[in-house]
Amino acid sequence: MRALHAALDHPDFAALNRVEAQMADPEAALLAHPERYVEAIRKAIPAEGLTRIDPDTVASPGSWEAAMRALGAALQAVDSVVAGEAQNAFAAIRPPGHHAETAKAMGFCLFNTIAVAARHARQAHGLERVAIVDWDVHHGNGTQEIFWSDPSVLYASTHQMPLFPGTGEASETGAGNIVNAPLSPGDGTAEFKEAFTDRILPAIRAFQPELILISAGFDAHHRDPLAEINLQSEDFSWATGALMETADRTAQGRIVALLEGGYDLQGLGQSAAAHIRQLMAA
Ligand SMILES: [Zn+2]
Repeated sequence: MRALHAALDHPDFAALNRVEAQMADPEAALLAHPERYVEAIRKAIPAEGLTRIDPDTVASPGSWEAAMRALGAALQAVDSVVAGEAQNAFAAIRPPGHHAETAKAMGFCLFNTIAVAARHARQAHGLERVAIVDWDVHHGNGTQEIFWSDPSVLYASTHQMPLFPGTGEASETGAGNIVNAPLSPGDGTAEFKEAFTDRILPAIRAFQPELILISAGFDAHHRDPLAEINLQSEDFSWATGALMETADRTAQGRIVALLEGGYDLQGLGQSAAAHIRQLMAA
């Protein structure tokens, strides 16, 4: 978060409307998770020290507030974009969410924030079709699992394979609402743009979403230590621009992006800045 805020401390972002997120009511998590799971996570949060919820997923005493604030940011962002108060929004949140399945925390994720945001857009605002685009370098197994048989939400992802969590083959298509465009280790700008142009963007255009959500992880950056995809920060502004153009056609330009992964602080800061600079050009 500090790297992100440092990158946004630049004259380019003087006009950015920054809003402090409220914590969500824990009931919001029920849009994507059963109550017993939400309670189990709440009980697992330690009063002091650290608890390992899954081999990768460590909780500290601050994790509940962070997770609820992440949900709050996502809901608030959806509310203001759907209400037309903002054309688009980026939620700078931790922890990430796209690996969290219906009843399983994994990969640093406790609750699937973007799934909750999509369901909230459907239930609170009556939207019929919401698209989730996930360009994090890891496949969003949790988001795919949650919407596997829910054709009101399109889930379209580019990610490295093979890599954690192991899902995301092109053959995984759910109810026809899942579009996986896996990339190979060593792939870069050309392959990423091809996946977008040939697979992701046509699927979104055909789906005609009323809102586009982005699982905006920046760990496909070439500096990132967790994967072997070689994107430049400008590639994220290109993808953002392409999604903005698509959103203009069917979704009144409405985009809400939620931060997912990003483990090289320089790559994260530069990539998020490029993404947000493009969003601000709306
Ligand atoms: Zn990731």
